[in-house]
Amino acid sequence: MANQNFPIIFERSKEGRVSYNLPELDIPAFHLEEEFADVYVRKTAPELPEVSELDIMRHYIGLSNRNYGVDSGFYPLGSCTMKYNPKINEDVARLDGFSHIHPYQDTRTIQGAMEMLYDLQISLQEITGMHEVSLQPAAGAQGEWASLMMIKAFHEANGDFHRTKVIVPDSAHGTNPASAAVAGFEAVTVKTNENGLVDIEDLKRVVGEDTAALMLTNPNTLGLFETEILKMAEIVHGVGGKLYYDGANLNAIMGYTRPGDMGFDAVHLNLHKTFTGPHGGGGPGSGPVGVTKELAPFLPKPVIVKNNGLYEFDYNRPQSIGRVKMYYGNFGINLRAYTYIRTMGAEGLKKVSEYAVLNANYMMRKLEKEYDLPYTQHCKHEFVLSGRKQKKLGVRTKDIAKRLLDFKYHPPTVYFPLNVEEAIMIEPTETESKETLDGFIDAMLTIAEEAKSNPETVQQAPYHTIVKRMDEATAARKPVLRYHKN
Ligand SMILES: *Cc1c(COP(=O)(O)O)cnc(C)c1O
Repeated sequence: MANQNFPIIFERSKEGRVSYNLPELDIPAFHLEEEFADVYVRKTAPELPEVSELDIMRHYIGLSNRNYGVDSGFYPLGSCTMKYNPKINEDVARLDGFSHIHPYQDTRTIQGAMEMLYDLQISLQEITGMHEVSLQPAAGAQGEWASLMMIKAFHEANGDFHRTKVIVPDSAHGTNPASAAVAGFEAVTVKTNENGLVDIEDLKRVVGEDTAALMLTNPNTLGLFETEILKMAEIVHGVGGKLYYDGANLNAIMGYTRPGDMGFDAVHLNLHKTFTGPHGGGGPGSGPVGVTKELAPFLPKPVIVKNNGLYEFDYNRPQSIGRVKMYYGNFGINLRAYTYIRTMGAEGLKKVSEYAVLNANYMMRKLEKEYDLPYTQHCKHEFVLSGRKQKKLGVRTKDIAKRLLDFKYHPPTVYFPLNVEEAIMIEPTETESKETLDGFIDAMLTIAEEAKSNPETVQQAPYHTIVKRMDEATAARKPVLRYHKN
């Protein structure tokens, strides 16, 4: 499909144009086709773009200028914590002592890197109130799965093979029931009450001798703090189940409370969210897990330990669920998180949570004038609006999201969580200024006004973007995998 505005790299191709300059051949030529005639050698050359160095530069610089990221604008994607990633993280990650080492190196030659990982484990233990941490899982979802496997191993070590169910709230992130299923459990739903919190009566109804664990995030996926968490822990522990904390919302509570103090037995953290690893665009991530003393023997191995002043990998963990990631986790992302924690300090991290919560409440109170707010109490770091008022005018939440692009904002998360009709989930984060928040509020209020006075304007948006509305169904069903000349 030809794109006149911005050709794809194959469309820039001109036969014979090159961006390399090799010296004359000064050794005998080697004829691959003849030498390897008996094995498969392709008969036709691959169809690769033939472009000059300048073509390549313009092509990729041009693409990067069309990209949208936290560094180019406000990105209030709820549940994702798209905060600014300080550039000092990148400087540290590029230090030779960190970037030029190899995972198979003798640990005595990389004690600095080992110390960094060990200290990061200790910091995360302190932040979460957990007994021991493993940095291995490469994403939040993998941390969820690894934790459920540890909980399963724990139950089985106690001869308890009948705990087949994992309870998840109906507002939970999709990875929660998915991880439960992949770990071999049946996911059972617990309802949300009219205040947006877990319905305690329903929880009492679904727990039982077959409960392996309750998976929960606090503040929950609606951005609300589960005030009855201690009671919930008592109910689940009362039947012998464990509590698993989805740490994706840690940005709201750092320095104020800890999953360990709330009664959780296992947690994962998203270092690429709360602890400023760059994300959005597919990784790499880091989803360390922390557990209580009781679950610690089951942690993925090796664990980094300190013996007589020397940092080592401890493989002597007979009850471990095993390795869940090659080598020792995503080192570069762990290093960025470590840098962030060290530059912020304990007081700084506490301020992060204060400003994250303040920014969200400021925005929520401004927007509730025009948008329906299903849960009216103060929120934590994010909040969920409903576009049902606008829907009555013929304007859907999807239209609002598309219209925001014209105002040069990345849209919030939409149609999630599933228990809110026409959901719009906004997480401003602590790194945004009041001016930025006000700019976004203005855009949202303008769109609400347009929905009343001129709904077609919103329904047809966007107007000022490079691509207009996409046919999402066709894009999903018929992806363009490769460009064909013919
Ligand atoms: C992002 C997120 C996850 C999954 O984390 P990944 O690192 O994307 O795998 C799980 N739960 C919640 C609430 C999240 O926001």
